[in-house]
Amino acid sequence: MQHQIKPLPERSSRVGFATNPLDRLSEKREDAPFIESLRLDRTARSVAIVSDRPILKRADGGLDPYFTIDEIARLGAARETALLGRLPGGPVFATLLDDSAVEVVEADDGSFLDRRSISMPGRADLAFIDMRSIATQGLVTPEFVGILGQAKSLLFWHARHRFCPNCGAPTRVAAAGWRRECDACKAQHFPRTDPVVIMLAIDGERCLLGRQRRFIKGMYSCLAGFLEAGETIEDAVRREIHEEAGIGVGRVGYIASQPWPFPSSLMLGCLGEAISTEIVIDTSELEDARWFSREETQLLLTGHHPNALACPPPMAIAHHIIRAWALEGATP
Ligand SMILES: [Zn+2]
Repeated sequence: MQHQIKPLPERSSRVGFATNPLDRLSEKREDAPFIESLRLDRTARSVAIVSDRPILKRADGGLDPYFTIDEIARLGAARETALLGRLPGGPVFATLLDDSAVEVVEADDGSFLDRRSISMPGRADLAFIDMRSIATQGLVTPEFVGILGQAKSLLFWHARHRFCPNCGAPTRVAAAGWRRECDACKAQHFPRTDPVVIMLAIDGERCLLGRQRRFIKGMYSCLAGFLEAGETIEDAVRREIHEEAGIGVGRVGYIASQPWPFPSSLMLGCLGEAISTEIVIDTSELEDARWFSREETQLLLTGHHPNALACPPPMAIAHHIIRAWALEGATP
């Protein structure tokens, strides 16, 4: 008798921005004639970003992130282009438009939400929707969420690295958009990905969740913070939980990761075993933090909490870290 054992799908594959079907062609980026042939390919498409927002075409009641190379040229001056990769249907580029192509009306209510209003004169057929709304509201397919996240991270890096950090001279794009080079001092610069640890401290049958002032009402989530130079993931998890909530943590276990294009992070999701239980909140980071029983945590996940408390939606890795412990039996 044969036993077929199927591995569980990776938890990282369930989060927003993780689904990306592109063959990145990373080994072909130095082949300039090949890259040019892709650019001239009639099946070539590009996504477009302006002022860190994707540009979407309103089409058939939906939103389409793809432009032909000719359509892109008509949108306005391109600051940078990069090859994201290739699908069976053709190559996919990313184009960063100059901010002068759009009109931006600033509005910030202090929440995580990007409330700017962006428009392009004479182009009511285009929508300029912030990446967080696109991902949380499912405005495009998960594949497009992943591709747009890749484009946003990469193009943001280009927008902020026009000058050499070493000598201050202008830099230029190389390797199909995956490197910048300085002709003055010969330094090479590569796109950044900034690691962030995001974690759930576990004390037996309860877990530690906190809320920041900017969270929507009733929302509790995992604690999180940037990994620092010279630090392991485990050390960063222990340091951040202790700094923000005063809880000591021993063993740390990895759960999943999530590309997070705000602007260019990788979230590293972990569980940590609490070795102390008295919470001391850093009020500059958190408005509240407390222990939640496994049963109460399950109500957060299912949206049935009696006091209308909630945890982040399935797009966010925090949801899957909490779920891994509360419902799937994961341990640090
Ligand atoms: Zn330089």
